[in-house]
Amino acid sequence: MQFIETRGNDGQHPETVRFSAAILAPVSSYGGLFSPQNLPVLGEAFLQQHLSSDYKTLARAVLTSFAIDIEDAIIDKALALYDHFDNPANPVPVVKVKEDLYVSELYHGPTRAFKDMALQPFGLLLSALAQQHNEKYLILVATSGDTGPAALETFKNRQNIRVVCMYPDGGTSDVQRLQMVTEDADNLKVIGVKGDFDDTQSALKHLLGSVEFNQTLKTKNIQLSAANSVNFGRIIFQTIYHIHAYLELVRQQAITLGEKVYLSVPSGNFGNALGGYYALKMGLPVEKILIASNSNNILTRFIHTGVYDLRDLSVTPTTSPAMDILKSSNIERILFDLFGKQRTRELMQQLDNEKHYALNAAELAQIQAIFAADYCTDEEGKAYIKQTFADGYLMDPHTATCFKTYDNCRDKPLKTIVYSTAEWTKFSPVIANALTGETDTRDIDALKAVASKAGIKIPATINSLFDKPVAQKTVIDKQDIEKTILGIL
Ligand SMILES: *Cc1c(COP(=O)(O)O)cnc(C)c1O
Repeated sequence: MQFIETRGNDGQHPETVRFSAAILAPVSSYGGLFSPQNLPVLGEAFLQQHLSSDYKTLARAVLTSFAIDIEDAIIDKALALYDHFDNPANPVPVVKVKEDLYVSELYHGPTRAFKDMALQPFGLLLSALAQQHNEKYLILVATSGDTGPAALETFKNRQNIRVVCMYPDGGTSDVQRLQMVTEDADNLKVIGVKGDFDDTQSALKHLLGSVEFNQTLKTKNIQLSAANSVNFGRIIFQTIYHIHAYLELVRQQAITLGEKVYLSVPSGNFGNALGGYYALKMGLPVEKILIASNSNNILTRFIHTGVYDLRDLSVTPTTSPAMDILKSSNIERILFDLFGKQRTRELMQQLDNEKHYALNAAELAQIQAIFAADYCTDEEGKAYIKQTFADGYLMDPHTATCFKTYDNCRDKPLKTIVYSTAEWTKFSPVIANALTGETDTRDIDALKAVASKAGIKIPATINSLFDKPVAQKTVIDKQDIEKTILGIL
């Protein structure tokens, strides 16, 4: 399969690339993204054929359908990383929570959040390609909490890869921070920045445009790549679990093959939802994809009105911080798939220059034929956590936002798959607050409080973080970011 650019070609870049090139150098002409030229069509025969396949077998078949230019042996090694999830036989359990609501638990990997689903195999692929090309790669990560730990975990001790990861000092949970600062592999550097997530992100952008920085990379023969979901290498692994969840519902006799379902996705950068969109396009029987947001509800407004408007907006911190986002990168791939490169370039340039764009009525109708959306405030989320716990299921605040779309966005009585993107352990103070009313708890106390209330154990990987030595002690002012990173290289 070939990949093409969402904003068209500028004559400086190749017009089409294979998968490996798209993941090694993910930025294309005019700042666009690589997207598949055409999607494989799987249809019902494929689903039938994989009714009793385990996760890895299904994953392999989906990757094969994309005809990616990666050797089988490397793909096998990448997929074998799912063997390190809680249950190697079923790395993504799908659990019935209500009569017609099923939760697909995407968080059973090493860092207890769904970023592992894609980053685990992606890290292995990138390192294998870097070695084959005999090139060294630098991955710069600016994280608000979950991407950092998952990126460090997947790249630690991997050949030909270095990672510099910046997090806002004081802006993550204790668990998230400890997951980063206790990483001691030689190829990883973690930097706390006195500022917020936006400061780290703009510093990173500034650095990428800096002449001195690019000169340094050149003299040291270092290439840059990206590990966020602009990289198609992450998206491809995110189509698989949507197909898996559907097949699980068939296996659990909740639906018959061919019956449509709703997918409800807690969304930020839209990688997870884009994976669902591709699965739908490839033939998965999906009625609609329900997009759940928190109070940073730009995606809800976009899907309701066709207007994407960043003017006069700033991020509001919420209890579901992984969704505290305004510029949702993967919407661009939806625009491209539905409206083509010319229109996508026009809309994205307008967003860059004027901070807003509007779809026309026909375009909006196309979006609304596939997506519905709603947003969930922190208070509503807390109520869902409390009620659902009373009903026997413990969930994190990101997952909770989906319960609002489940209540409000369905117009047919079809089964719904909710995607759970984090284990309760990553956001335990919010959950302790929802369940007991306590406020201002430290993570360690909240973990104990929730575990005791739920009658469960704190997972060892989380518990042991509090005793691990801190290996990464650098905390800097935001104006020193460039100097510090140049110093590391
Ligand atoms: C990253 C993340 C999200 C948002 O996923 P996108 O693919 O960026 O839309 C939601 N919840 C959690 C816990 C996350 O880490």
